[in-house]
Amino acid sequence: MGEYPPALVTGASRGIGRAVALRLARQGQPVAGCFSTPGEAAEKTAAEVAELGAPAYFAPCDVTDPDAVEAFVAAAERELGPIGCLVNNAGITRDSPMVLAKRADFTAVMETNLGGTWSFCRAMAFRFMKRRAGVVVNLSSVAGIYGNHAQTAYAASKAGIIGLSRSLAKELAPYGVRVNVVAPGFIDTDMTGALTDKTRDKARAMIGLGRFGQPDDVAEMVEFLLSERASYVTGQVFQVDGGITL
Ligand code: NDP
Repeated sequence: MGEYPPALVTGASRGIGRAVALRLARQGQPVAGCFSTPGEAAEKTAAEVAELGAPAYFAPCDVTDPDAVEAFVAAAERELGPIGCLVNNAGITRDSPMVLAKRADFTAVMETNLGGTWSFCRAMAFRFMKRRAGVVVNLSSVAGIYGNHAQTAYAASKAGIIGLSRSLAKELAPYGVRVNVVAPGFIDTDMTGALTDKTRDKARAMIGLGRFGQPDDVAEMVEFLLSERASYVTGQVFQVDGGITL
């Protein structure tokens, strides 16, 4: 094993997950990346990670399917060796005002964002405990802390991730395993690209630093929390939001 243990990043094909995968690969860290839709984005990211010279394993895995999650972890460890870092990043939005909201959208958002995070934590927890090593970073959102219009389901899933992470941090700290949360504000990805110009302008006006963040702004915080530089940090939530919540 090199200086960095293999990392597993969910939702690694696009956006923030892609930026995390590339950053870790750039420092020579082996990366296992999953996504749900095979295609150009996933192939491009997998190729770029491999070009950086770090061992890589990219494959589809629907995070809402617990059996697929367990199978992905087993395959990633066969390919790369024991996973030492877990980044739960895969996430979706299904925005709607509550009066129009559909139960199926609530279920999809909860199963993907919160259920997927739970399943990967469940799959890794005992492995990390046995090895007395491991670090987890889960992606929440400022919406999960402060709430947001038309995001009742999304905010609930992201608040859930904070509760899950703090509890897991308490459970795993005696084994030397750290668990932290990154809560981004508005970041330029496909997810926010889907917003209307009006919503984007309104959001930008609220951001102290006057701009949307870039995926790599978030990846920088994730990389730090995964590293030994954060070896005394656990159970915390870090906002990367350009001051939108000030
Ligand atoms: P994107 O929509 O750009 O990318 C989402 C990623 O998640 C893709 O790789 C996608 O792969 C994957 N994914 C979605 N559903 C599943 C699934 N069921 N199984 C496996 N992979 C899945 O999102 P962002 O990069 O913007 O967001 C990343 C994380 O950061 C999310 O958790 C999001 O909630 C959070 N966040 C983002 C903010 C932003 O402003 N962008 C703000 C706050 C939080 P595929 O296309 O194959 O499904």
